[in-house]
Amino acid sequence: MTVRVRFAPSPTGYLHVGAARTALYNYLFARANDGVFILRSDDTDTARSTEEYQEDILEHMEWLGLEWDEGIVIGGEHGSYRQSDRYDRYREVARDLIESDSAYYSFATPDQLEQFRKDARDAGTSPAYDGSLEPGYGEVAGRVAAGESAVIRFRVPRPGETRFTDIVREDMVFDHKQVDDFVILRSDGSPTYHLASTVDDVDYGITHVIRGEDLLSSTPKHILLAQAMGAEPATYAHLSLLMGPDGKKLSKRHGDTAMSAYREMGVLPEAINNYLALLGWSLGDEEDVASIDEMISRFDLTTVSKNPAVFDPQKLEWLNGVYIRGMSDDEFVASTLLLVEEDLGRTLSADEREQFMEMVPLIKERTKLLPEVSDQVRFLFTNIDKYDEKSWSKVMDTPEALVALDAALAALTPLDEWTIESIESALRQMLVDTGLNARKGFQPVRVAISGSTVSPPLFESLAILGKLETLTRISNARALL
Ligand code: GLU
Repeated sequence: MTVRVRFAPSPTGYLHVGAARTALYNYLFARANDGVFILRSDDTDTARSTEEYQEDILEHMEWLGLEWDEGIVIGGEHGSYRQSDRYDRYREVARDLIESDSAYYSFATPDQLEQFRKDARDAGTSPAYDGSLEPGYGEVAGRVAAGESAVIRFRVPRPGETRFTDIVREDMVFDHKQVDDFVILRSDGSPTYHLASTVDDVDYGITHVIRGEDLLSSTPKHILLAQAMGAEPATYAHLSLLMGPDGKKLSKRHGDTAMSAYREMGVLPEAINNYLALLGWSLGDEEDVASIDEMISRFDLTTVSKNPAVFDPQKLEWLNGVYIRGMSDDEFVASTLLLVEEDLGRTLSADEREQFMEMVPLIKERTKLLPEVSDQVRFLFTNIDKYDEKSWSKVMDTPEALVALDAALAALTPLDEWTIESIESALRQMLVDTGLNARKGFQPVRVAISGSTVSPPLFESLAILGKLETLTRISNARALL
């Protein structure tokens, strides 16, 4: 049997990092089993679904490289894979279920249902609605024909229980006392999530439903529905939810949750895939870094943990740094040149590009997020007309700064050869001559050439900046002291 899995986000929000992890696990499972990965749109909530959210989901699925084999945009043998296009099919199933007595028209009003639940609680019985407020069979057809508003409910077999083995959470039992005769079709003819999701899963031949734990309590309903449709229910795997560092469900309170935010921050898709994979699953052997192909070859849903996983943006940044260091210099330039040029508001000249290339080995090691590159190289391509205030007051407003800059000028001016080595030896000799320590002697030079105390390694930076520009910047800063 071919494995068929689906990721079924509702386009009622931007692609959330937790949803992206669900998508990734579906993708890894499909690829690990030579299966089919489907992307569906659960867009039955017309009030909250938007095209903008749908686009965001598609764009970030593509960005993450989680290619789907069937689904929205690309289609497949099941049509558009949008639930909003399938209302006729859901109504047809609802009617079939009425015919087979697995479902019924329900006239109970919200007030009556509330009273039912209250009475049940008072009497110490189950508040799950069991259909007891409904009229006898004889009455139903007439009331429906007369146009009375009715929903269609699934008839949960009572007494009874639904058992299933969840791949992650293992043996699950739901006593039907806890399960409502749930609505499958609303009075306006629209399907509920339970109906639309299960009909799609059955029609699309889904073999494994891998989704968030928040849907665990819906699963007995989906199994009962599938069985009533005469289908073999899927195998389920419910993933624990992502938590913030405080142990509460990951939400905006903890920071960014939209995938787009991480992309804008400069996180690489490879890094976030790797990171999300580790939230609940491990490569073993304390290993953290693996390419998507390696993850596919090792992915095993049965080893996914049921414990909640903590989303830690700092670990993600660290991992992103690992991926950045792993880039070739050319890849690094390809991923950052545009960011640098956007930051400068112009394109780099051929000479400047060369300077940038020379800088790459120095900054690649220190970059955790791609846009940081702009901060590290900006000084090369702009005149220093403003100095970072904190750096200035800490470093330049000291008596040693004047000594250091004068001595640096004197040491560097006579150099015939402008190389990292010659610069380093001249400046080290300058320390000996002035008696300044490295911090007191070098920091003023750093601020003079870059505008701040934070810049790539000093001697290399001077070498790349060039002799004339270095001496000019040091003199300019000196003149301000
Ligand atoms: N559309 C549902 C959601 O976005 C997921 C449905 C499912 O996986 O069964 O939460």
